[in-house]
Amino acid sequence: MILDGKALSKRIKAELTEQTAAFTAETGIVPCLATVLVGEDPASAVYVRSKRRSCKKIGYESRHHHLDAGITQEALLQLVEDLNGDDAVHGILVQLPLPKHLDADAIIDAIALEKDVDGFHPRSVGHVALKKPGFAPCTPAGVMRLLEESGINPSGKRAVVIGRSAIVGLPALLLLTHANATVTVCHSRTSREDLEELVRKADILVAAVGRPEFVPGEWIKPGAVVIDVGINRVPNPADPDNPKGMLVGDVAFATAAERASWITPVPGGVGPMTIAMLMTNTLIAAQRTAGVA
Ligand code: NDP
Repeated sequence: MILDGKALSKRIKAELTEQTAAFTAETGIVPCLATVLVGEDPASAVYVRSKRRSCKKIGYESRHHHLDAGITQEALLQLVEDLNGDDAVHGILVQLPLPKHLDADAIIDAIALEKDVDGFHPRSVGHVALKKPGFAPCTPAGVMRLLEESGINPSGKRAVVIGRSAIVGLPALLLLTHANATVTVCHSRTSREDLEELVRKADILVAAVGRPEFVPGEWIKPGAVVIDVGINRVPNPADPDNPKGMLVGDVAFATAAERASWITPVPGGVGPMTIAMLMTNTLIAAQRTAGVA
């Protein structure tokens, strides 16, 4: 069966719309997400536009700062400080990647923890590790919500996470561990032989590598749950002249779908859930300022 992140994300956003209307009516507070985009990277612009569109649909205020690619570290830090100090702003999202001359870690570190709705701040990740309240990075949080809403309980299951990045693989390991799965993490130094052996035994596979169809479908254990986080643009054989190509995941979908019990499509699986979790975190951040969350 398909783990339909698009449909679930739509439902979550509809619920948030209702909750936001009630919250705003009760408190007079309109949740506000500030987005910061530096430069003209087309993919980043698309992501930010889609986040802002979601904000407006739900009833949040969307404040946008589009900055010149040449902005200095000091000026960007100052903007983050200003947003930290602005009581009308509940969430701050600095779209990554930033241009090379900027120190992204230092910028993310400067975001106030209670406004870190992306969950990228090192202390947010620390809070996830220690099961303290805070904001988990949106993509792995979206993965967990997708499992939960589909009635898939990771407890006692063997989970394999491919990838150990700070925003996906590592927090996915933490969240699955907290959900009582037995988790193994694979990365670029894992041998292909070990990877195959581990994937073949995985009840739950989370692939977050960034390589098209990196995991052959034949490796999937019959009945496994496959969560494909990867988003890779490749040429479309059905439309080879289209420069946009097509999107595929890290798992060879067609063959994997024949063996898996549940599988996320790419696109339409984890991607929409990431935005749904960002929207959820933004409302929670606003509710916390009013002392109601
Ligand atoms: P990173 O490039 O930060 O991390 C990739 C990870 O894959 C690293 O841990 C790396 O290992 C590992 N890796 C690389 N090569 C291999 C290999 N041969 N065998 C095993 N592991 C390997 O990527 P992200 O985590 O940011 O993103 C991963 C994918 O998920 C990308 O396609 C990205 O576009 C997508 N993504 C999707 C989102 C969504 O909303 N759906 C959100 C965020 C990301 P090592 O640590 O050793 O280098």
